Amino acid sequence: MFIDLDSPLQHLKGFGTQQLFVKRDDLIDPYISGNKWRKLKYIVDTAKNQRKNHLVTFGGAYSNHLLATAAACSRLGLKSTAFVRGEASECINNEILMLCKLFGMELIFTDRVSYKEKNTLFQMHFGSDQNALFVAEGGAGPEAVRGCAEIIAELPADTDHIFCAAGTGTTAAGLLTGIYQQGLKTKLHVVPVLKGGAFIADEILKYTGNNAQLVLHTEYHFGGYAKTTSTLIEYIKRFTTTEGILVDPVYTGKMFYALNDLYERQYFKPTDKIVALHTGGLLGLMGMKDKFH
Ligand SMILES: *Cc1c(COP(=O)(O)O)cnc(C)c1O
Repeated sequence: MFIDLDSPLQHLKGFGTQQLFVKRDDLIDPYISGNKWRKLKYIVDTAKNQRKNHLVTFGGAYSNHLLATAAACSRLGLKSTAFVRGEASECINNEILMLCKLFGMELIFTDRVSYKEKNTLFQMHFGSDQNALFVAEGGAGPEAVRGCAEIIAELPADTDHIFCAAGTGTTAAGLLTGIYQQGLKTKLHVVPVLKGGAFIADEILKYTGNNAQLVLHTEYHFGGYAKTTSTLIEYIKRFTTTEGILVDPVYTGKMFYALNDLYERQYFKPTDKIVALHTGGLLGLMGMKDKFH
């Protein structure tokens, strides 16, 4: 594999004497960000096993998954194509898509109605192409769960609480799978970044069949996916200044805000060991430059 899985565990300073660590999956690679590489790893294996050399996938114009796929494919010598939700004219000046193109990804802009029919799109364009592998939006699926489960084996076994942000919940499903595989008592705390995030529990249950060690915190969405408030932006500025670690307003900013809020409400025992998973996605900051003036 050409992608080095170097993801250190670092202590966070801003939480007093609480044993609070961050698992730096954001350091795996600047473009193949954190959980997106964990999710792609076994998809790439599937492609190799099926002798396919072309990943075809789906995403919005600021999708971390598209950039990760583009960068990983070029590194691994694979072709990549993405169906991008929206019109090309809406995506001028988009940093993520510019980088996708530099990494050689072919972009097919797709209107919002056709975009919903992903299998139809794939069949229309690549139905007769033996080399093309369909990769779900966000990389979701059993391979992604398997890749994310591996994170647990890299953490201390006596961790009391693990925190992660959730979009689809696939990463969270992987973490919970890993917790059960290792027979740990650790609780998994999931912070959905969408409004109405209770559905994430069912998504996770589909993969794990058991949510006993899951705690869902649905009240930290700040208005919904990619929505922010000045409270969140101010928190991100403070966090970054204190810790020297970048977080984005879409995912990890909300997760650390939730963790900090629970800490301040004395939700944890002083002796609890906590690990927050930094899932990467820092280029998402670029889509929100204007919020940080
Ligand atoms: C995609 C993404 C997530 C969400 O992962 P899911 O598996 O969809 O829940 C979290 N953090 C970052 C930075 C992401 O890019």
